[in-house]
Amino acid sequence: MQNDFCQGGALAVKDGDSVVPTLNLVIDASIRANLPVFFTRDWHPANHCSFRAQGGPWPPHCVQGTRGAELHPELRIPPGAPILNKGSDPSKEAYSGFQGTDLKERLSRLGVKEIFLGGLTTDYCVKESTLDARKAGLVVHIMQDAIKGVNAHPDDSSVALQTMRSAGADMIDSRKAIEAISGA
Ligand SMILES: [Zn+2]
Repeated sequence: MQNDFCQGGALAVKDGDSVVPTLNLVIDASIRANLPVFFTRDWHPANHCSFRAQGGPWPPHCVQGTRGAELHPELRIPPGAPILNKGSDPSKEAYSGFQGTDLKERLSRLGVKEIFLGGLTTDYCVKESTLDARKAGLVVHIMQDAIKGVNAHPDDSSVALQTMRSAGADMIDSRKAIEAISGA
């Protein structure tokens, strides 16, 4: 949930901001249940390969140290919650929060077997993170009301949801996620 993917950002997703309050409810429930919350963010150097000047598909976005790279100001970040940077290598794209990070090891160390995933964007980072999480053997619940897609092609998000379902991801809404988290 970074500024550049929200309204006014360099790579704004339509209604991207709208999932922040929903995510906050889930984060609050996780804090109450004493469950860990992880954040991942694009943290690109100015010459990242995904930028058009380098032949990539995207305008420059989430450049290290800029306001656009910051997490949304209204997003509730529990004190001490890990914020994992990805896409910092100029020559490597990293849509997944597991790519080039120690997220898998961190989850494993905490004994995490099941994750609730939300944020931006459905058709890239949410999808790729889900596929990697499934490969790591995790149970993955996608909160469908807490994600939004870029939709460079109109059906990209629906195709991504199908891909995630085929990989064994569970599609739920945030209300069910909060029930599950609170009962944990
Ligand atoms: Zn990026």
